[in-house]
Order: sequence, then C-alpha cells, then structure tokens
Amino acid sequence: MNIILLGPPGAGKGTQAQRLVERHGMRQLSTGDMLRAAVKAETPVGLQAKAVMERGELVSDEIVSALIGEELDAMGADVGAIFDGYPRTEAQAGSLDSILAARGRSLDHVIELAVDEDALVERITGRYTCASCGKGYHDTFEQPRVPGTCDKCGSTEFKRRPDDNEETVRTRMAEYRAKTAPILPGYEARGLVSRVDGMADMDDVTAAIERLIAD
Ligand code: ADP
Ligand code: ADP
Ligand code: ZN
Repeated sequence: MNIILLGPPGAGKGTQAQRLVERHGMRQLSTGDMLRAAVKAETPVGLQAKAVMERGELVSDEIVSALIGEELDAMGADVGAIFDGYPRTEAQAGSLDSILAARGRSLDHVIELAVDEDALVERITGRYTCASCGKGYHDTFEQPRVPGTCDKCGSTEFKRRPDDNEETVRTRMAEYRAKTAPILPGYEARGLVSRVDGMADMDDVTAAIERLIAD
C-alpha cells in the first residue's frame, strides 16, 4: 500500500502518519523530517536547505525527490509507504510516479486532509514533539498523559521547530496554495483522491482514514 497524505502545514499529516505506522507497520516518509535531519547533521543538502526552510519556502524538487528514492530503497519492498509532505509540486508528483514505478510500486490513495486555514496558525504555533522518539503533541489539543513525560517513550525532553512561528506559517500556507494544491486535480482525474475532514477530532480523522484504506 502506498498512500499520500496531502494538506497544508498543520493539517494533521504527521499525526495521522504516526498512527498508520503504529497500526499497520507502514513506514512514514516525511521529507520535512529527512531535511531536518540533514540540517542537524550539516550535510551538503542540509546546508543548502536550512535557510530556505527557515523562510518557509520550498526546497528544490531534485533534493527532495532524491531523498525519497533513497528512503524507499532502504526499506523492504513489501512495506507500505505513507508519503507525508511529499509531493508538494507538480514536478515532484511526476517524479514520484517514476520513483514508484521503478520499484514496482504504485499509488493506492491520495488522502486530502481538508482544514480551515484559520485553525492552522494555532495548530502550528502550539505544536511540539518528543526530542527522543518524535511523537507529536500540542499545547492545547494533545498533551502527554503525564505532564512533561512522553506517552510513547517516557522522555522528558521536547522540542519545537524554528519554522513554527506565525510569519513563516503564512509563507508556508501561500506555498501550499500556489504550488501544492494544484497537484490535486491530476490525482482526482486518476480517481485516487479521498477527502477527509481534517477539522474533526484526531480520532475521528483516524477512523475516516482507516475506513477508506480498508476498502
Ligand atoms: P502536519 O504534519 O500536517 O503539518 P501535524 O500532524 O504536525 O500537522 O499537526 C499539527 C499540530 O496540530 C500538532 O501539534 C497536532 O498535535 C495538532 N493536531 C493534529 N491533528 C489535529 C486535529 N484533528 N485536531 C486538533 N489538533 C490536531
Ligand atoms: P509541515 O507539514 O508543517 O508543512 P514539513 O515538515 O513537511 O512541514 O516541511 C517543513 C519544511 O521543509 C517546508 O516548509 C519546506 O521548506 C521543506 N520541505 C519539506 N518537504 C518538502 C518538499 N516535498 N518539497 C520542498 N520542500 C519541502
Ligand atoms: Zn517520546
């Protein structure tokens, strides 16, 4: 199974991808996570991407498509893939088709998480993750069961992303509207798109996704 989760920053792609990983043993392929790891390790890709990400603009298609190819090659051929934050442009969507075909894979679902833009700034500015296992949280919407302790791994260290501030979020939303939303019609024409209400409670969003991938 190969699934794309599509939606603007804060739509819930990462949250839902983590749940699919836990329930179905799939792999989450997040280009944002891969790029942040490259920035941290100060690789050539990371050095190139850092400033672009801080501005909320898109990193080059060549860089992210190469990362996706490498990540797919590093996983078992029978493991399902959840694409989170990729593709984000028409060029990336084209590359993904070739990348998948070359590996005997094809897309099963493109799941669009539909959200009100007004809610996104609050979601993003309240977002944080476990510094150890990466589990996502929110100041208001999803706090750890024991305050200050990660539900999943018990770590007491958390982190926030430097680009999760209101100004950068506005740029990221504009990038989504201008460059990413236009890839939907192509997938619609192929009958791949299902729309899920991303404003619903997290568990309801998960249930809706589960229903549609079970078909
Ligand atoms: P994305 O990966 O699409 O940028 P995330 O999954 O990181 O989005 O979600 C952004 C923030 O909003 C996180 O802090 C997450 O806990 C919270 N969140 C995700 N889904 C929902 C939801 N359905 N309702 C309320 N908050 C949510
Ligand atoms: P979010 O889901 O909150 O929008 P991501 O973690 O997916 O954030 O991405 C963070 C940043 O990394 C983006 O603003 C962009 O600079 C870069 N990035 C991630 N994925 C891509 C991609 N597929 N193409 C270009 N840039 C990307
Ligand atoms: Zn943790």
